[in-house]
Amino acid sequence: MNAAEGTDHFFRKAARIMDVGERIETLLSTPLREVRVQLSIELDSGEIRTFSGHRIQHDNSRGPMKGGLRFHPQVTPGEMVGLAALMTWKTAVVNLPFGGAKGGITCDPTQLSLKELERLTRKFVDQVQDVIGPTRDIPAPDVNTNPQVMAWIMDQYSKYHGHAPAVVTGKPLDLYGSRGRDAATGRGLLYVCREVMRDLGLAMRGSRFAIQGFGNVGSHTARLVHEDGGLLVAASDVHGGVRNPAGLDVPALFEHVKRQGTVKGFSGGSPCSQEELLTAECEVLIPAALGHVLDRHLAQEVRARMVLEGANGPTHPDADDVLEKRGVLVVPDILASAGGVTVSYFEWVQNLQHLSWDEERVNAELERIMKEAYERVAQISRTRKVPLRTAAYILAIGRVGKATVLRGI
Ligand code: NAD
Repeated sequence: MNAAEGTDHFFRKAARIMDVGERIETLLSTPLREVRVQLSIELDSGEIRTFSGHRIQHDNSRGPMKGGLRFHPQVTPGEMVGLAALMTWKTAVVNLPFGGAKGGITCDPTQLSLKELERLTRKFVDQVQDVIGPTRDIPAPDVNTNPQVMAWIMDQYSKYHGHAPAVVTGKPLDLYGSRGRDAATGRGLLYVCREVMRDLGLAMRGSRFAIQGFGNVGSHTARLVHEDGGLLVAASDVHGGVRNPAGLDVPALFEHVKRQGTVKGFSGGSPCSQEELLTAECEVLIPAALGHVLDRHLAQEVRARMVLEGANGPTHPDADDVLEKRGVLVVPDILASAGGVTVSYFEWVQNLQHLSWDEERVNAELERIMKEAYERVAQISRTRKVPLRTAAYILAIGRVGKATVLRGI
């Protein structure tokens, strides 16, 4: 089972508890539109190369579709379908007026020059400009795409449709981006974490955290948790990991990452493998790298009190069952890591209104939305006696289902 099938599994589990019926289940799980485009560009060498571009639009009953655009050799329509659906449920959990989408270009961006990447991005926009847009589908950065790529998308789209900054989010601050977008997913994780810990009777100060992944999500989370008094006892990235049961010196770790480009080799702790990180003794484990890193076997060994999902789909459904049986609380991705898309929503709102919020306002609005979403999910979990993940899907399916029926099938 891949991460896409994982999303479908969790969706169906909740849909059956809600007894929505097979027809509505099929309606809600089938993507609205799957676009595949041919992207032929001239490389710097003069050679012509053809790539495949994809955009999966899953659901728009609650508003324009929203989701990342990734550049990766393993971009496949199948995986995109699952990730697009995940975005529908995620935007619904935090009650944003959006649906879900996902897309990408099957390519290895490390083998392309900046100019080639720009040509490829602009070609993609040429081919999908009629199906994306501020009121249709709004892409955002994802694996191997960044604010510069979003700037190219905005520019190319605007050539067809007139000035339209709201067509993408995650843009550079100097080109209609939002303050606070960079740290938003980590900050959202922190806000949810505080609420869950309060319900569990745990204090942030002195609690131990292990974080897999030290990119956008993992590194901001590490910094914010540290500022809140938490102890980072283990951290890893693709190159390796480091741990210190007494707590890593986080500012020194950041200095090391700045110099070396990795947490590996940090002298303030001992080396640790990914497996050791995921099974580290701690209160909060935050997988913030890849999908399905927690399998059935590892789940037996997890020693955290709770798993806060920073990555999309880090827990295999089998592992989810094991963690539940073992009493390890899992805070699901569609709630925990929704901070990024929430601030993307703020960026879209600011663009449409031609104004700019200060960071205090962004963070305060984010905190309000994350807290409210957690409260609703926790309440469903208590009354229906289901895990937080199922409760979050029940909340999301209810919202999307109602909008679908009200609009008319
Ligand atoms: P990123 O590319 O900035 O960072 C990824 C990190 O994971 C890097 O530190 C990388 O070294 C590490 N990594 C990669 N392979 C690994 C491996 N095998 N073992 C350990 N570490 C590994 O990506 P990101 O934006 O931080 O996203 C991380 C995850 O969070 C993804 O699943 C993404 O879909 C999800 N997510 C991101 C956002 C966002 O706003 N960026 C929002 C929601 C969810």
